[in-house]
Amino acid sequence: MKIVILSQNPNLYSTKRLVEAGEKKGHEMLIVDHTKCNLVIEKKKPSIIYKGEEILNVDGVIPRIGASVTFYGTAVVRQFEMMKVFTATESQALVRSRDKLRSLQILSRAGLGLPKTVFSNYSKDVSQVIERAGGAPLVIKLLEGTQGLGVVLADNKNSAESILEAFNGLKARVIVQEFIKEAKGADIRVFIVDGVVVGAMKRQGKEGEFRSNLHRGGSANIIELTDEEENAALKAARSLGLGIAGVDMLQSARGPLILEVNSSPGLEGIENATGNDIASQIIKYVERNAE
Ligand code: ADP
Repeated sequence: MKIVILSQNPNLYSTKRLVEAGEKKGHEMLIVDHTKCNLVIEKKKPSIIYKGEEILNVDGVIPRIGASVTFYGTAVVRQFEMMKVFTATESQALVRSRDKLRSLQILSRAGLGLPKTVFSNYSKDVSQVIERAGGAPLVIKLLEGTQGLGVVLADNKNSAESILEAFNGLKARVIVQEFIKEAKGADIRVFIVDGVVVGAMKRQGKEGEFRSNLHRGGSANIIELTDEEENAALKAARSLGLGIAGVDMLQSARGPLILEVNSSPGLEGIENATGNDIASQIIKYVERNAE
């Protein structure tokens, strides 16, 4: 098969592992930088031009689209869909999952546990917003943040008010969220491929840090999920329509609470923590669906 990986950087761990796993199965693996594709849209003959040539005879696509290029990356994925090529992440699901607020709304409709979250249109009445979220301590998150940047813990009402006023003044969109203290600075990442959990790890923030992101110095260990956690993660991926998903959740006194669902989850942390060959699971998923 000819499989395209949409990736801006051939040297990233995830990209390299997917190429390796595909080649091992005898596939032709082609890395395409989606930001350098030109899309030709005409009657019944959609095509993609890359490095001056038309991309032809592709059987499957594995999108690895960075958050900063979601708009263009999604357009390229959609173009492959127009060309009737199987993509491991659908363009619609990609757009849905990139919008943190929309994702939370969809997860809430699906009946999944979530930290209570309040969103307002730069409301001047910050104390009401704080009250609605259950009062301090609270977590305040920039809607466009990733890797834990733009996630702030406000210990008390005064700091919550001043942080909210500062963000509002900058016209930065934020959500205000109940702080789940009993998570103790840890979260769980569940990696799902085609409706099956292929790996799960617990990430613990460094001493004194409530954010568990590996990019913020956290560490990861393999973990056995409870049935409740596994079912919640699978349901979250399904409700967002993602074939490949990294579901992040907190362990709370009232069960698992979903934080977010990543549509291009990295392979390095999870393969290292679990020792599982997740890249090969992704290749098999493409094999099963692409013709
Ligand atoms: P990002 O998408 O930037 O990683 P997250 O929403 O995942 O942002 O938050 C980063 C980390 O902060 C999480 O992995 C978790 O450890 C911690 N965290 C986030 N929200 C809460 C919360 N409501 N209660 C407790 N800890 C949280």
